[in-house]
Amino acid sequence: MKWLSLILVALSVSPLTTGAQAAPAEANPFFEEWKTPFGVPPFERITNEHFLPAIQKGIAGERQEVEAIANSREAPTFANTIERLDAAGELLDKVTPVFSNLTSAETNDRLQEIAKQVAPLLAALRDDIFLNEKLFGRVKQVWEQRDRLKLGPEQRKLVEETYKDFVRGGANLDAEQKKRLREVNRELSVLSVRFGENLLKETNAYRLVIDNRADLAGLPETAIAAAADAAKAAGQAGKWVFTLHAPSIWPFLSYADNRDLRRQILTAYIQRGDQGNQFDNKQIVSRIAALRAERAKILGYPTHAHYVLEERMAKNPDGVYGLLKQLWEPALAVAHQEAQSLQAMIQAQGQDFKLAPWDWRYYAEKVKQARYELDENQVREYFTLENMWKGAFYVANRLYGLKFVERTDIPKYHPEVRTFEVQDADGSHLGVFLADFHPRPGKRGGAWSSRYRGQRFRAGKDIRPIVVNVCNFTRPTADQPALLGLEEVETLFHELGHGLHSLLSRIHYGGLARVPQDFVELPSQIMEHWATEPEVLKVYTKHYKTGAPIPDELITKIKNAEKFNQGFATVEYLAASFLDMDWHMLSAEQHQDVIAFEKAALEKIRLMPEIVVRYRSPYFQHIFSGGYAAGYYSYIWSEVLDTDAFRAFKEKSLFDEATARSFRRNILEKGGTEDAMEMYKRFRGREPSVEPLLEKRGLKRKTG
Ligand SMILES: [Zn+2]
Repeated sequence: MKWLSLILVALSVSPLTTGAQAAPAEANPFFEEWKTPFGVPPFERITNEHFLPAIQKGIAGERQEVEAIANSREAPTFANTIERLDAAGELLDKVTPVFSNLTSAETNDRLQEIAKQVAPLLAALRDDIFLNEKLFGRVKQVWEQRDRLKLGPEQRKLVEETYKDFVRGGANLDAEQKKRLREVNRELSVLSVRFGENLLKETNAYRLVIDNRADLAGLPETAIAAAADAAKAAGQAGKWVFTLHAPSIWPFLSYADNRDLRRQILTAYIQRGDQGNQFDNKQIVSRIAALRAERAKILGYPTHAHYVLEERMAKNPDGVYGLLKQLWEPALAVAHQEAQSLQAMIQAQGQDFKLAPWDWRYYAEKVKQARYELDENQVREYFTLENMWKGAFYVANRLYGLKFVERTDIPKYHPEVRTFEVQDADGSHLGVFLADFHPRPGKRGGAWSSRYRGQRFRAGKDIRPIVVNVCNFTRPTADQPALLGLEEVETLFHELGHGLHSLLSRIHYGGLARVPQDFVELPSQIMEHWATEPEVLKVYTKHYKTGAPIPDELITKIKNAEKFNQGFATVEYLAASFLDMDWHMLSAEQHQDVIAFEKAALEKIRLMPEIVVRYRSPYFQHIFSGGYAAGYYSYIWSEVLDTDAFRAFKEKSLFDEATARSFRRNILEKGGTEDAMEMYKRFRGREPSVEPLLEKRGLKRKTG
């Protein structure tokens, strides 16, 4: 049943609309054993038309297996009920990761159509399992006997998690409630696919076309060259095209002298999904929030947030709001100070307008250069993508002894994907790692790490994982390699951290792979700390032209500037976390005017007008199409953990062997086999402290 977590993250739904012919079954690669290296999906042989028949057959197969478990005449045992359920759905486990990964990273209109067909099918299967009374009866019997069954710790945890999944999936409801729950789940699955699809269309639709060279003033050569390439690709050679994709819009907002063009592109960005056209997401947002609230009520929870958070380290909304509020006031105070220095810079340059959201990044860059003499573009010249991932692999090697061996015989779904075999310190095979770095029209925004195959044991054999990291990094241009900004470098390390969490996993049951969302960013965010450590920077940075290592002076400047603009970054992020929580604190059947709701949520926390919430509701993909509902706070919750955990290294040394071994054994290998706080305490020897985070973000003065 490993796909359960997948569909939450991925996509979903609406009526069948096409009449395309299914490929003949015998030619469908999903029905064969894959003879590729390490059993990586044979992407070159998989076409759009293979998915639906494979998923349908997979669903039918799993339904049969589940029925057989439910109708067994034997008395229920761990092996014949819980373990069999965990292993059920092998074909579906093979198809759905390929499908959901491709609909995120390399999608097309046909695949999106299929996604809308598939989502309600998967939602219905999920309901058929959790709402099956006979099956639940057997699961419950095993659960009731759990103390007497002589189970190992993983087995016991699997019994508990399985039972809880059924209860949370509605197993205890009456027939009427079950019927309504199914309808709600089905509709939600469709809406979340539509939300993501609309956003992709809106993001791709906008272009800022510049035909006057003077309008490029202030922009670095890298950004100009990329814009010229983008124009050429769009059939507008000789002009410059800027888009709403991260490598295009953020440099534009940081450097373009033309204030009106900055206003135009940021306005386009923040109006996505809110333009009253056919891709408008407002109704979808309101409906999703109402349906989630209704579902929570059916299941016996006050709100969707209560329902979600029960499974997290935070435990309940008070736990989340408590941390957010603790950080909000100091962050807001720092952001107001930052706004003052930006306003002063505006005045110093002989202007008299009031700082606006499209000015923040631009003047922040100016203040940064004046105060720290740190020029991001100068830094970029040392950060070639090629060296950065070598640097990230270097850190993984120093910490855990891992080797990433590039292999060209591993199948890939796009020519730009890089393929690696990952080996443990003793040379044994750990898994496969795919890396997909640059934006394409068929890829959604952001960066993520996912799996084509999760690690687990099957018939006593350790099945090793196939992991993919997908990013939207700056492209190489005609005469330059891909040069990354500092934030992109941190993202690269971050996603590799998620990758390591998957690659190092050593658990028996796929059903225990799920980790609480406010814990799952610990392995990723801790990796960011190594990215800018001088000891690491010196090893892997090289100037892209001269090959010279990064000068000490520049490293010092990077370190000095680390706390710069943290008020902005923290406020922008926390505001989105509050907004997410507020959306999921609704009680049932409250339909909302999305814009008014958002405005009220942000006024309540007194968000300053110079800062736009990091995601406005109509493009808040994390929470409306990405599995982070009532979970966006998780990044900062995990940051409490990662700053505290990184300190455990720093207290000894950057690559301290014993600390790394403990982190690997107690955290990275464990998946969700134990309570997250218990795992953390075993690593750290105590509960996490919030102090290192406050210091790192400059939100608190060091005492003593
Ligand atoms: Zn992450």
